[in-house]
Amino acid sequence: MNSATFDALCVAPTTTLHAALARLDATAQGILLVTDSRGVLLRTVTDGDLRRATLAGVPGDAPLSALPAHAPHSVGLHASQRDVVALMDAQRIDHVPVVDAAGRAVDLVTRRELTQRVWLSSPHLGEDEVALVQEAFSSNWIAPLGPHVDAFEREVAALVGVPHAAATSSGTAALHLGLRLLGVGPGDVVLCSSLTFVASANPIKQLGATPVFVDSEPQGWNLSPQALERALRTLRGQGITPKAAVVVNLYGQSAEMDAILPLLDAYGVPMLEDAAESLGATYKGQPSGSFGRLAVFSFNGNKIITTSGGGMLVGRDRAMIEHARKLSTQAREPARHYEHVEDGYNYRLSNVLAGIGRGQLRVLQQRVQARREVFAHYREALAGVAGLRWMAEPAGHQCTRWLSAFVLEGDDAQQRRDALLDFLERHNVEARPVWKPMHLQPLYAGSRYFAHAPGQDVSAALFAGGVCLPSGSNLNAAQRQRVCELVARGLALPLRSAA
Ligand SMILES: *Cc1c(COP(=O)(O)O)cnc(C)c1O
Repeated sequence: MNSATFDALCVAPTTTLHAALARLDATAQGILLVTDSRGVLLRTVTDGDLRRATLAGVPGDAPLSALPAHAPHSVGLHASQRDVVALMDAQRIDHVPVVDAAGRAVDLVTRRELTQRVWLSSPHLGEDEVALVQEAFSSNWIAPLGPHVDAFEREVAALVGVPHAAATSSGTAALHLGLRLLGVGPGDVVLCSSLTFVASANPIKQLGATPVFVDSEPQGWNLSPQALERALRTLRGQGITPKAAVVVNLYGQSAEMDAILPLLDAYGVPMLEDAAESLGATYKGQPSGSFGRLAVFSFNGNKIITTSGGGMLVGRDRAMIEHARKLSTQAREPARHYEHVEDGYNYRLSNVLAGIGRGQLRVLQQRVQARREVFAHYREALAGVAGLRWMAEPAGHQCTRWLSAFVLEGDDAQQRRDALLDFLERHNVEARPVWKPMHLQPLYAGSRYFAHAPGQDVSAALFAGGVCLPSGSNLNAAQRQRVCELVARGLALPLRSAA
């Protein structure tokens, strides 16, 4: 429902029954909101109310105020979707108006939309996955290790343009292995993008090392080269050489590798590229995930392609990737019995899931295209909405738009973001804040942090005002339009505190 439709639902108490019936017909929402001259909600009117009034002999030219009075069932701007559903069920109604602090009608939630959830990023299967899984069953290769795992590794490596890949049970497992292969251990310092999912940082801590977080740059939101430079210089001044740098490619877009790589090289710091969100993206024509000494992908359920759960560690160094395979299968030594020298893990991807992954890889380019179209639709449809800045796609980048994200700017950005997220949630649309930066997480309280510029904390501002919209490759045109109408209307809504 757009704002014109919502406005058309609001009628004065002087409206005749006849006119109300025509308006109900034209708006087709099954309800009208009777409001006074200040917009305060007086009551609702449904088809049933008009039918009962007619049967009771109220003439068609009588005003709505002639109907027997009843107080409207409504909720405030604080209400959650759960509150709305509870009210619908308790009162046996299918529409719940939302009123502001002054009692003015500002929104309407319908039961129909509550049965049609729009997800942030849901799995999207192609046509081959079931057959490939079937193949795993019929060839009895259910255990980890098997032809699908080998083929999936080869196919991902070929796609990314690196020679070697090791499939893992998750992206997090691949990050853990990657850091260990780079020699990270107790007492080490590891640089890490602050604006990311917690899994980028946790393996650093779990290996006994200390993460030092680095801010984002304002355009593409990825690691700020100028903050990185300051971090490297400052740490060197203190006699610290970071053991590695976890550089994250956010929301389907590569970090600024041409600025980042020479810096890391100059200081002798290897890059572990966290490409969990950027499979299918390119930077200056080169695939995301091919820049780091090692790089990590994720095939978790919400990622651009999925194996339900899974990951991949890729790189140019054959010995490292072979070592990763050994560590991921309990680090068994080549002996007839079970011989162990190294500390290993159970991190290997199963053959069944690799079969799903192979099917998904075949549709990756379509998935990238579909997500980019979702983003393009949003940007065009919301072009007239002021104060909303999309994550940029700087020159040289081909972003997958894994998630379509924008940031609201200004002093009240966080309040407006929260109001919008509440509004979308009431309308059964799953949207999320941008990642909460690691340096603001209680888990990493007290960690060192290098801001984009002294006094300019970019990732904190992106978190405060940032919103990720539903971005799945399986969103249809009606869902995209619904999201756009809701975002436009949600941003126009008064804030909770406004009376
Ligand atoms: C999803 C994600 C991970 C973790 O991948 P899993 O497969 O869920 O373990 C790591 N880093 C980033 C940036 C991610 O988005």
